[in-house]
Amino acid sequence: MNDLAVSDPTISRWRGVFVNDRTEDTFRVQSAKIDSVHAARGLLLLAAANIFFFLGDLSTISNEQALMELAISRTLFLTIGIVAFFALRRNSDTAVLDRSILIFAVVATLLMTFQLREYIVYAAPPPALFDIMLTYLVVIPATYLLLANPISLQIAISGVLTASFIYILQYDIPQYDAQLPFAITFLVLVNIVGITTSSRRHELRRQAWWLLNGERAARKRLENEISLRQSLEQELRHMATTDDLTGISNRRHFYMRAEAEIIRARRYDRKLAILEFDLDNFKGLNDAYGHPFGDEVLKSVVDVVSDLLRANDLFARVGGEEFAIALPETDEAFVPEIAERIRQTIEETEILFEGKPVTVTASIGIALLTPDDKDIETVISRADKAMYQAKNDGRNRVISAR
Ligand code: GH3
Ligand code: MG
Ligand code: MG
Repeated sequence: MNDLAVSDPTISRWRGVFVNDRTEDTFRVQSAKIDSVHAARGLLLLAAANIFFFLGDLSTISNEQALMELAISRTLFLTIGIVAFFALRRNSDTAVLDRSILIFAVVATLLMTFQLREYIVYAAPPPALFDIMLTYLVVIPATYLLLANPISLQIAISGVLTASFIYILQYDIPQYDAQLPFAITFLVLVNIVGITTSSRRHELRRQAWWLLNGERAARKRLENEISLRQSLEQELRHMATTDDLTGISNRRHFYMRAEAEIIRARRYDRKLAILEFDLDNFKGLNDAYGHPFGDEVLKSVVDVVSDLLRANDLFARVGGEEFAIALPETDEAFVPEIAERIRQTIEETEILFEGKPVTVTASIGIALLTPDDKDIETVISRADKAMYQAKNDGRNRVISAR
């Protein structure tokens, strides 16, 4: 569809087809299904109309031989109409479509020429020129209307019909000679109208198809653009709220969500505890094992601590090796227990450096939300102080702020 958009949409005026073969092929393949349905109906209609004319034969033709020949040729016509109908209904690719129409057109043209000659020669009383012309007036526009592309085939069919008409008039019923120029002019005009209508119809169909395809391609591009933007937005949001190294919340996100938790806790008179912890002597660990190993330790600590927390707890990396946890709806009596479990778990976690286990410890400060706390800052600063107290008291311990 995309390369269609850049290929040539020029439509040949009189043939009513895309000048660019590839565009025309694509159009034909995409329209083959509906074209086949239309052609199937059109051919069956022509065949049914042809058999209907036998009623006229019965009332105007007394020659039995001629009647018999007409009956056979009209039955043959109906048969190929039915065969073409089913061939087109069962299979709708362009090759079947073109072949069915070609075979039908050739056989039908020969049969119609034959039938018209029989009618003109054997009808009694001899048909008026107007009656004969009327038949052509129906058959010629019908070929232009009911048979799909190519227009050259339509011209060939009506050309053969027109030529045979002139031939029959001239050789079989010379009494019309005087009106012949008028009749020929009339038939040529019918053909010109047929060709113009047909090529215009083909042109309009192709224009509509082209526009629709362009519209579809544009909508597809828009959809792609929207989903790209959505995923970018999601990525941006993720980047703005998440810590790259550990995948947990960053400082900004923690403050935002903790603030919301405080508002909620104050409004509904719920408990809220803040833990703050910092890894001990982390500079020394970096110096001893290298910065990349320090990163591994940070990730391992986040993993083991995350496992101890509930879904509603907030856990964030608020500094290099400094973390904060908000525990909503937690009984005050349990908070030191939770902190102690975290401290102990970190202490017991072994991270392998070149096959040898390395451990790290953390100093933890606890602060509980009090009615005096108006925002997150005051609670966090109390937790911070408690943590520094833990550092001062010798590290690897939990201190509760008073
Ligand atoms: P203390 O027990 O007093 O906390 O000692 P400390 O060495 O942990 O404290 P300090 O604040 O002096 O050093 C923190 C160190 O953490 C310094 C820095 O190299 C290291 N650090 C900070 N961010 C990262 C990080 O993302 N990756 C690694 N590997 N190290 C980090
Ligand atoms: Mg530290
Ligand atoms: Mg620190």
